[in-house]
Amino acid sequence: LTGLIWFRRDLRASDNAALHHALKSCAHVHCVFVYDRAILDGLPRVDRRVEFIHAAIAELHQSLQALGAQHAQPGAGLIVLHDQADERVAQLALELGVEAVFTNHDYEPQALARDAKVQAQLGRQGQAFHSFKDHVIFERAEVLTLASKPYSVFTPYKNAWLKKVDAYYLSPYAIDAHASALSALPKKYKTKLPSLEALGFEPSNLKDLKIPTGASGGETLLADFLPRMQAYQETRNFPSVKGPSYLGVHLRFGTVSIRKLVQLAMKEDSEGAAVWLSELIWRDFYAQILSNFPHAASQAFKPDYDRIEWESGASAKALFAAWCEGRTGYPLVDAAMAQINQTGYMHNRLRMVVASFLVKDLGLDWRWGERYFAQHLNDFDLASNNGGWQWAASSGCDAQPYFRIFNPTSQSEKFDADGKFIRRYLPVLAGLPTKVLHCPWLAGPLELAAADVRLGDNYPLPVVKHDEARALTLTRYAVVKKT
Ligand code: FAD
Repeated sequence: LTGLIWFRRDLRASDNAALHHALKSCAHVHCVFVYDRAILDGLPRVDRRVEFIHAAIAELHQSLQALGAQHAQPGAGLIVLHDQADERVAQLALELGVEAVFTNHDYEPQALARDAKVQAQLGRQGQAFHSFKDHVIFERAEVLTLASKPYSVFTPYKNAWLKKVDAYYLSPYAIDAHASALSALPKKYKTKLPSLEALGFEPSNLKDLKIPTGASGGETLLADFLPRMQAYQETRNFPSVKGPSYLGVHLRFGTVSIRKLVQLAMKEDSEGAAVWLSELIWRDFYAQILSNFPHAASQAFKPDYDRIEWESGASAKALFAAWCEGRTGYPLVDAAMAQINQTGYMHNRLRMVVASFLVKDLGLDWRWGERYFAQHLNDFDLASNNGGWQWAASSGCDAQPYFRIFNPTSQSEKFDADGKFIRRYLPVLAGLPTKVLHCPWLAGPLELAAADVRLGDNYPLPVVKHDEARALTLTRYAVVKKT
């Protein structure tokens, strides 16, 4: 048998389900990655994610070359194309004369439609399409309630998940043992990998940010995080502290294996490890929510919440622009937006704060914020992003109750008490005494003058008053309360 493995969001040559199955069941295996025009053409010309993928692809190609060389296949490597994936993959399969295409599941609605099209075309060509679970520990209908229904509340889901997980689900997929099946690159595809420019993109600041890329970058971040894992629950809420793992982007593009992370978290006996494991389970939870309740991708999970009337018109657009550009006058919110705009990362605590602010202080539709995050987060993942936004908007499956409204000032005082994070991302406010750094509108004229802060000039006055916004939100959400 000859097979073709199609890499997508699983950009690693170790512990990869589809690669394992292809190598194990075929005598010859070709490897392909397609820079999909259907996705890339819609992106801005500078996009950190494309650059991250570009680096990951170069490394994956090298890893496959090295694997081949170790197993008497010196010409092995990755075929890299820039095309419409939904057509080109089946064409390539025909051209290479493979019996089957192997790939890993992608659960996003557009990806499902793409895969259905590829599978149908392969079927017409008499070729098989085999797809595997790789991205999560448990998918779709693997963890169900006693009544065989999908869970929509996290804690019972987590308990059932923990009860079910065992070595079988966490064992790495062997690659080395079967790597002699890797085929040499066909002559036509022995070309240099396309440069970022050839793909139509310009370099971002990814290199300056020193975000480690590729599977080796995932290893670097993991090695850095492991000694910190036991302290995770104490450190994870403070944006100026190196608490989290920063592995989100690697999980997104599969440059790290979720099985490996779960194994490491389960091996360590500490509260930090247990809390971090919980976060990894949240990721599975939201992935199964998207699979089982696809309406949530565009509508409120709880349909009543689509009756809420969000702000609209020019004033809403102006408020949204202020939020996007970090000009709300609330320092923690603005510093958080500066972080995402400058780096593509935002700390989890801040994601909750700015999401709550957009929905419950500005009265804007959560989908606006969701879209902005989708465009800017390096680790953007439809399921987790949608889950996070619907949690903040209270419309989600296991969401924050609608009457719980974060106070952006007290969140700031609590989670950035010494103002280190705010000062880093809002240098204009750096000279303010810490007690007013969280609320510059309360600073006295001498304090403002000494710090060279001119409210309404070099730093905005608050775009809304939190107490008034809070009252308005409770009224806005009353339509939900009545049902
Ligand atoms: P760590 O704290 O080290 O956690 C490890 C991993 O666990 C993360 O990489 C992630 O894969 C998973 N994880 C952690 N928290 C959550 C969570 N609440 N829900 C689901 N998975 C979680 N996460 C994304 O991966 N992509 C998104 O697009 C995304 N959008 C979000 C939007 C909002 C409004 C909110 C409130 C949260 C969002 N999250 C998203 C969840 C979380 O903020 C990020 O996963 C986390 O901040 C990534 O940083 P890290 O890798 O250092 O995480």
